Amino acid sequence: MKIFLFIKYLVVSALILTIILFPIVIYMLKFKSESYVGNILKEKTIRYPQLVELINLDEPGDFKYFYTMPGDSISIKVVSVNTKQPDVDVTKWLENIMQVSVNKTVTVTLEEISYEKDGFLTDSDMDEIRKRAISSGKSDLNLVYTGSYSEKPTSVGLVNHRDTIFMFADALDGLTNKGYVRNVLEKTTIMHEWGHLLGLEHINNQNCIMDEMVEVYDTQPVEKPLPIKYCYEELHVMQELKN
Ligand SMILES: [Zn+2]
Repeated sequence: MKIFLFIKYLVVSALILTIILFPIVIYMLKFKSESYVGNILKEKTIRYPQLVELINLDEPGDFKYFYTMPGDSISIKVVSVNTKQPDVDVTKWLENIMQVSVNKTVTVTLEEISYEKDGFLTDSDMDEIRKRAISSGKSDLNLVYTGSYSEKPTSVGLVNHRDTIFMFADALDGLTNKGYVRNVLEKTTIMHEWGHLLGLEHINNQNCIMDEMVEVYDTQPVEKPLPIKYCYEELHVMQELKN
């Protein structure tokens, strides 16, 4: 009889512990992921894409193991907001980028949406635009073309979420007038932001796509050509993710 009582206490204690621990784990994952414990928990959790989706972890890099797991092709939604268009070669670029980085094929769909605000957009505008973009159906990755970024007008790209790259067409126009080659600027920036979604951080090397100047273009002398390929260090990190 005593053994049944013991098991009963054990089960009840485990249940109470789970009920107490569960919200703490979720809190650490979502709001304290920079802390030591939060970081460890997050590193473990993001290995399971279904869990990432369930808890709705939404930082750049949180979906890196989803993108690099073997198998299916990646579905990409290219969204034009208020008629801001990508380059005509965007599908070709995406095929090439996904092949080189994660060795996957792509299916690309194009969509147009309108947004009441044009020009300089804030982070919350972009949250809203992403919400509208995915409301018509989810894709693995969204590539969204909008005006420009209110916090950094020379930014050509930005990632604030696990699955969305924002591209700023007005900034692209402005920098093209300053002498940058538009399609190189655009493709290199997509590659840089995609790198962030794969969890890559900035590398202090102007031959690498993840060099910070690829985002902060105002510090880049126009004479220096932009990198057009992932450097060894970047390819190595991508390869490690697949293992
Ligand atoms: Zn960056």
